[in-house]
Amino acid sequence: MIRKTPICVPRPEHNLSRHNISQAALNVLYQLHKSGYQAFLVGGGVRDVLLGQTPKDFDIVTNALPEQIRKLFNNCRLIGRRFVLAHVRFNREIVEVATFRSSHDNGQGEGIVENGQIVRDNVYGDTVDDDAGRRDFTINSIYYNISDFSLLDYANGIKDLQDGIIRLIGDPVLRYQEDPVRMLRAIRFAAKLGFTIESKTAVPIPKLANLLANIPPARLFEEVLKLFLSGHAVASFKKLHQYGLFQQLFPQTEACLENPIALKLIEQVMCDTDERISNKKPVTPAFLLAALLWPPLLNQLSDKETKGVNLQEELIEIGQKLLARNKLQRVAIPRRISVPMQEIWLLQLRLTRQRKVKKKNLKLLEHPQFRAGYDFLLLRAKAGESQVVEFASWWTNLLADKNVNVPIKRRRRHYSNS
Ligand code: ATP
Ligand code: MG
Repeated sequence: MIRKTPICVPRPEHNLSRHNISQAALNVLYQLHKSGYQAFLVGGGVRDVLLGQTPKDFDIVTNALPEQIRKLFNNCRLIGRRFVLAHVRFNREIVEVATFRSSHDNGQGEGIVENGQIVRDNVYGDTVDDDAGRRDFTINSIYYNISDFSLLDYANGIKDLQDGIIRLIGDPVLRYQEDPVRMLRAIRFAAKLGFTIESKTAVPIPKLANLLANIPPARLFEEVLKLFLSGHAVASFKKLHQYGLFQQLFPQTEACLENPIALKLIEQVMCDTDERISNKKPVTPAFLLAALLWPPLLNQLSDKETKGVNLQEELIEIGQKLLARNKLQRVAIPRRISVPMQEIWLLQLRLTRQRKVKKKNLKLLEHPQFRAGYDFLLLRAKAGESQVVEFASWWTNLLADKNVNVPIKRRRRHYSNS
């Protein structure tokens, strides 16, 4: 799979120009090179530029060891549990610099493996040849050499880029066992780039999907954000579902998806999120995750809906159980996100009470999560929760009135201040 001699594409024959690379990443590449180390750009920074897209970040790989990297930059921090990486900061941009690593099947030594899964991976390689085999996909294993601006392609990644193919390097089953997150990454890149997952890479996924249970919940959370908040949520959700991975991430939601309203709600929130991103509007993880866990919440709440029950208390309790980390909730949702999620949920009760006392309603408009709660109500109405449609239009009408009033009020205040 990995070539002994890489395909080398000299600068005049490819379109990766230094103009496509951020100044921060160029600084790091030049500094390493000037100090006598090898330095390459690799991963998304090469892949996306070759596809004519703008990379999210730039990853650099070098033969300098982490401590040596740290000495070269005063704005550098070593981080990482699984991998030790150097983060070099220039203003707001962080450039990730990794030392070459060795692949696990070349006899040079293994990372620390438990049940086939790599738990630590700091066997440094001496050369870029060593490093290529431990990358995940062929399209992520193309190196841009700062010493002569050429590309090195060890795994026919350039051909796969041209053909639109996601292909794991090496034996797919072993590579997924080593790191099950690669299954999520395969889906993410297929969704993001509109590529096809090559059959040997695709076939083992449903069978191995349950290996995600071994992944730390915080890592799963980061992957979930990348899957759903990068502008390709609709495609990611569809593929995750198709490959049996969604079930591993959100089993309680998966169990509700036979209900067409629940399915529509999830598809709708994904679609709205993609649209907002494409229109450069902000998106909040709390809103998306509140929607992702809404179907099981609503199911359990409906079961309790008998006379005399305090629905608010019930909702809080069910919500907390849904968010608590356990076998059913493997994605760790940090408090900064779970708190607003619960507020959005609670607002659903307040927004769907009989509307009589107008003053009280207006007070709700000042709630810090009002907008999110209202948008959530609209989402539910759009998904076909017929019992909330009337309330959704009621609030829409109220806001339409309010919108007329707000600017007048502001103007008055402004005049009185001047
Ligand atoms: P993006 O940054 O757009 O999400 P990327 O491909 O750059 O995509 P990163 O997570 O930044 O992804 O990783 C950088 C590179 O490191 C990858 O392109 C790949 O070569 C390698 N890599 C990352 N995660 C893994 C993994 N789990 N297994 C093997 N190689 C990996
Ligand atoms: Mg990257």
